[in-house]
Amino acid sequence: MDSRLPGLYKQDLDQRLSSVAERADLSEDAVRALEGKSFDAEDADTVSENVIGTIEFPLGIATNFRIDGQDRFVPMAIEESSVVAAAANAAKWARQTGGFYTSVSGPVMIAQIQTVDVADSHAAALRIQRRAEELIELANEQDPILVEHGGGCEDIQTRVVDTPRGEMVITHLVVDVRDAMGGNAVNTMAEALAPEIESVTGGDVLLRILSNLADRRLARASCSIPPAELESDEIDLSGTEIRDRIVDAWAFAESDPYRAATHNKGIMNGIDAVATATYNDWRAIEAGAHAYAAADGYGPLTNYAVDGEGNLACTIELPIQAGTVGGATQLQPVAKAAMELLDVDSADEFAGVLAAVGLAQNLGGLRALVSEGIQSGHMNLHAKNIAVQAGSPPDLVDEIAARMVATDEIRQDRAEELVEELGE
Ligand code: NAD
Repeated sequence: MDSRLPGLYKQDLDQRLSSVAERADLSEDAVRALEGKSFDAEDADTVSENVIGTIEFPLGIATNFRIDGQDRFVPMAIEESSVVAAAANAAKWARQTGGFYTSVSGPVMIAQIQTVDVADSHAAALRIQRRAEELIELANEQDPILVEHGGGCEDIQTRVVDTPRGEMVITHLVVDVRDAMGGNAVNTMAEALAPEIESVTGGDVLLRILSNLADRRLARASCSIPPAELESDEIDLSGTEIRDRIVDAWAFAESDPYRAATHNKGIMNGIDAVATATYNDWRAIEAGAHAYAAADGYGPLTNYAVDGEGNLACTIELPIQAGTVGGATQLQPVAKAAMELLDVDSADEFAGVLAAVGLAQNLGGLRALVSEGIQSGHMNLHAKNIAVQAGSPPDLVDEIAARMVATDEIRQDRAEELVEELGE
């Protein structure tokens, strides 16, 4: 599979789907799901509550990705323009040195059990640890299927946490959740252990819930960009100047949380879009990413430096709590098609892909920010949205957008004038 499809953006919708489907050898079910409205309010009613309808997102394909030697199409569900194009651009630059390389720490989640009103917190924590083997066994009895897949509770850890309401004994269940996101799996285990924890500690158990600070489930990706890849005809800067400016932009984020928040938002643009496309819980991934970024004073999740060959060395590390099974991943036909496109065999592989996409997204955004700025490219892509907002009939949207781009007047008042002029 070759993930390069130059000119895909110029094809019409039907052509685009068949180009991608053919190249990725998509199943008939997946193509049918992508072609039409395969998920209506009645289907949605089984997923959520008080359902009154569904809402669609554009599903785009970021081309050019090569991750750990394998080319992949990356499906991205997102309403913001420029995101898919930026990811595909950065993936193209990375191809020159083999693409992205990833590593993951394993699909290990933590569930927490909060115990209050313990008379002897530290001694109680030790008593829990002495019963660890028994507690692990009890946890694993809750999920024989997970154990069958090679996962399960691996460890019990305890902490005594000082809070405004006094000391609390916090028990951590360290659980290998294999290909699941793991939320339900670990919560069930935590709930099952609660009575035992109460009897061992003599306290009252309150919360029994996973931690989204999934710092045992880290994904890392790296790539190396030759400076020449960063050059463009439209900008009067050399590749090395752009490279150095990107390192300066990273240093800004490293030293200023106001910038780091936006730097990390750029990363999550890509990761959330893939999580949405695959019906994964992007709120969990978001919570984990920002909590991890704040662990040592809020900072950027990526790192940029110049390597010994003068290339831009780019890396990312963040918790990725996403699954290829479980949750809602199997409930939406388009999400299943998106998973088929990604062609990942495990949650670990998926986590590496998500980290690579986050890195590409950040790099693509920074490249624009340090040179022409993001607004020119963004506004060109946003012009159609402005035309629609100004009341353009569907058949005039392309024409109005093109005229606004040509004269560099991408504004609602200009779009309204054009609607009036061309609509007559
Ligand atoms: P799940 O319970 O639907 O699926 C996981 C189960 O699938 C496992 O327990 C196992 O029994 C089975 N399974 C089959 N094949 C497997 C394989 N190869 N690897 C692993 N398990 C396999 O879902 P889940 O992943 O436990 O929970 C995900 C859901 O939890 C998401 O919908 C998320 O929104 C929700 N959730 C999140 C939070 C949070 O993030 N704070 C809290 C509560 C719930």
